[in-house]
Amino acid sequence: LWSQVLERLQLELSRPTFETWIKTASAERLEDNCLVIRTPNPFARNWLQKHYIRTIANVVQDIAGHPLEIYITVKGGDEDSELEEQQAAWELEVPTPVTEFIPKNSPKATQKTNDLNPKYVFSRFVVGVNSRMAHAASLAVAESPGREFNPLFLCGGVGLGKTHLMQAIGNYRLDINPNSKIFYVSTEKFINDFITAISKGMQNFREHYRTADVLLVDDIQFIEGKEGFQEEFFHTFNTLHEAGKQVVIASDRPPKQIPQLQERLCSRFSMGLIADIQTPDLETRMAILQKKAEYENIRLPRDVIEYIASNYTSNIRELEGALIRALAYISIWGLSMTVENITPVLEPPIEKIAATPEAIMTIVADAFKVSHEEMKSASRRKEISWARQIGMYLMRQYTDLSLPRIGEEFGGKDHTTVIYSCDKITQLRETDKEVAKTLQQLCDRIQINTRKRN
Ligand code: ADP
Ligand code: MG
Repeated sequence: LWSQVLERLQLELSRPTFETWIKTASAERLEDNCLVIRTPNPFARNWLQKHYIRTIANVVQDIAGHPLEIYITVKGGDEDSELEEQQAAWELEVPTPVTEFIPKNSPKATQKTNDLNPKYVFSRFVVGVNSRMAHAASLAVAESPGREFNPLFLCGGVGLGKTHLMQAIGNYRLDINPNSKIFYVSTEKFINDFITAISKGMQNFREHYRTADVLLVDDIQFIEGKEGFQEEFFHTFNTLHEAGKQVVIASDRPPKQIPQLQERLCSRFSMGLIADIQTPDLETRMAILQKKAEYENIRLPRDVIEYIASNYTSNIRELEGALIRALAYISIWGLSMTVENITPVLEPPIEKIAATPEAIMTIVADAFKVSHEEMKSASRRKEISWARQIGMYLMRQYTDLSLPRIGEEFGGKDHTTVIYSCDKITQLRETDKEVAKTLQQLCDRIQINTRKRN
């Protein structure tokens, strides 16, 4: 029956539609009046459901001679995981569940809460040079908690995988021993629990947090200036540490750079290992997209991967979001996955004001005291190539020029050179205060200049 249905659908639907979505589906089951169509991924399922269920039903009815109920599902996995997958695919950011702090005497207390996202496991983490150290340290901690690196302090910019790694430690421990007490808590939640405990009594709070086998505290930078909580956390930390329990802390910056952090806490945070995660290079970003696509059962052409990866450089959450938007878009419109087709949904991550390449060139040349000719030359003199890299980065930020076109603006440089420059500056912007300041000044000048012109 299914092959007959396919034949007919091939005639009724456009070729890309058929090739992309129908051909990859299969009919798995025919019972009584039910036909189950399995699609390789949630996008295909959604799209078929939304746009073509009627067409398919009509064709099926024609061929079978009577109407059938049609169910479209996703290959592999039960309905639950399928739903979850779909949710993950359609929401730009899956909220991370956090530990409920449940007072002992509440009825929920015996109920086991799973506070970890099951997707945040080591096998789903792509290791690049940017995260090698943090990954290795996390793995070491997962294998022998409370030993070498205690605490493990993970730091790095937003969306670079800190939460993923820290929860991977928890998931790994739970795999080994489902009864171990793994507490994952955001600092905000931790502070709220503390505030509640102040009025209701500290005992439950302490019993809860001080009996962890592994305590994972996320986004500790929010501890800034919270004196009372810092005091309490200091004791929690010591209790756990002395008992040989593992503490893992994540932060968007190193302990020394958290303002108003008590000196003694700062030194506690630094006594294990501080491992940082940098922004990933192009190759790593491509590998991350590749892996993500594999999990979604989607084949992505290499140029599409490269295109998305070169447009989102500094935040993996945004990178994943872009992929998800692209997938949703082509699935809704029944397009094939090509660079051209997905361009409209890959909005530049930073608001682009229409600055001209000339204006940017002039502003950068002035700022670094180099000439336009030098910017366009092949000179590798340090100041010149620095100005050139900054120029490329700013042009990427503030114009709609493609990477090859930016290369042309700089005297015909290859687009890989442009990608390299953008990556480098993006990274420095986050790690080097001086560079960040310089860039801020240049951005201001570009914006002022552009506003005057418009
Ligand atoms: P952070 O806590 O540093 O802000 P997250 O851990 O929440 O970042 O990561 C953001 C998203 O990017 C998550 O969906 C995570 O799974 C994904 N991610 C981050 N780093 C990697 C990586 N190296 N490999 C695969 N996915 C990653
Ligand atoms: Mg996080």
